[in-house]
Amino acid sequence: MNTLQGKVAIVTGGGTGIGAAISKCLAENGVKVVINYNTSSLAAQGVVSSIIENGGEAIAVQADVSKSEDATKVIDAAIEKYGKLDILVNNAGITRDRSFKKLTEEDWRKVIDVNLNSVYNTTAPALNYLVNSDAGRIINISSIIGQTGAFGQANYSAAKAGMIGFTKSLALELAKTGVTVNAICPGFIETCMISEVPENIREQIQAKIPQKRFGHAEEIASGVLYLCKDGAYITGQQLNINGGLFM
Ligand code: NAP
Repeated sequence: MNTLQGKVAIVTGGGTGIGAAISKCLAENGVKVVINYNTSSLAAQGVVSSIIENGGEAIAVQADVSKSEDATKVIDAAIEKYGKLDILVNNAGITRDRSFKKLTEEDWRKVIDVNLNSVYNTTAPALNYLVNSDAGRIINISSIIGQTGAFGQANYSAAKAGMIGFTKSLALELAKTGVTVNAICPGFIETCMISEVPENIREQIQAKIPQKRFGHAEEIASGVLYLCKDGAYITGQQLNINGGLFM
C-alpha cells in the first residue's frame, strides 16, 4: 500500500532546483502538492503542468514566504484546495555571499528573512493542520554550510544553522503528537544556486568532495520521500546528503 497516497504537501520554493525535484517526487508518490514560488511563476507553472500530465495533482501559489502574511496565504490555499495538510517542506532559500567585512546589514537581514524567518512564517499557521494529520511531517532544507560554516557565508551559515536548532526544538515539542521534524543538509547540489559559483571555485569544491561530484536535486528529493514515507520514528535529525563532504 502506498502510505503517501492522498497526502497533501506544501513545498516552498517548489518551482525550481531542489524544490521542483521534491515536488515532482512527492507527486509521483501520490501526494497532492502546493508549489509555492516567489518570482519564478513560469517555472512553477511548468512543474504543475508536468505533475498533472503524469496523472498527479498540484497547484502553484505565489507568496514571498519571508513575509508572514504571505506565508499564511500558502497554508490557506492548501486548506482551501485540498482541505488538509500533512507535509511541510521549508525549502525556499537564497544566498548573498560576501566576506563579513563587506556584508551589509541588508545582506544579513535578507538572507535571515528568506532562509530562517520563513520557516517560522510557514510553520506557525501550518502547525494545527499538521498535528491533525495521522503522519505530519516538517522537513527543513538546511545546508552543510549550517554545519561547517563557510568563507563569505556568515549570513547563510547562521540562517541554516538556525534551521537545525529550530528543527531539534520543535521535534521535541511535537514528538508526542506524531509530527516529525527533521532537517536535510545537502552538500553541493547541481542547481542554479551552484551554477552561479565561479568555475575555478566549483573545481576546488568538487576536488574536496570524497565522491568527486556534485549531488543531483533528485537525490535530495529521495531523502524527503524517505522521511515522509518511512520516517515515523525519525525526528530531530539532520539527514546529510553530501557525497561524504561532512561526516
Ligand atoms: P534555487 O533553484 O535558487 O531555489 C531556491 C528557491 O527558493 C527558488 O524556487 C525560489 O523561488 C525560492 N525562494 C527564494 N526566495 C523566496 C521567497 N522570498 N519566497 C518564496 N520562495 C522563495 O536553488 P536550490 O539549490 O534549489 O535551493 C533550494 C534550497 O536548498 C535552498 O534553501 C538552499 O539554501 C538549499 N541548499 C542548496 C544547496 C545547493 O548546493 N544547491 C546546498 C545546500 C542547501 P523564486 O525563484 O520564485 O524566487
